[in-house]
Amino acid sequence: MNNEPCIHCIYFKPSMFKPYIGQCLRLGITVVSKTEVPCTNFKEVSIEELKNMLRRGEWLYCMNCNVMITDEDELEKHVGKHLVTSIPETDEFIQEEALPGD
Ligand SMILES: [Zn+2]
Repeated sequence: MNNEPCIHCIYFKPSMFKPYIGQCLRLGITVVSKTEVPCTNFKEVSIEELKNMLRRGEWLYCMNCNVMITDEDELEKHVGKHLVTSIPETDEFIQEEALPGD
């Protein structure tokens, strides 16, 4: 199917600048999506899951178009063709990497 299981998982929250690095919302850890088999929590993103997230008031993000998706009509335009995920993280765990070491 693909070789980046995390990116296609409902629990993965990608970083804005490095989409292959993100936070696993399920495990609460930073993960790197690469050529690994999905973990036991893997749950593939489906259009139904994405719609449910919108209904819960969670916004989505199209990694291809770099746009927020806030309603189902918008979702339909991207899903299937593009990589639609949770809103990417921009917070400290990315910045930490960029900080010079002491
Ligand atoms: Zn798109």
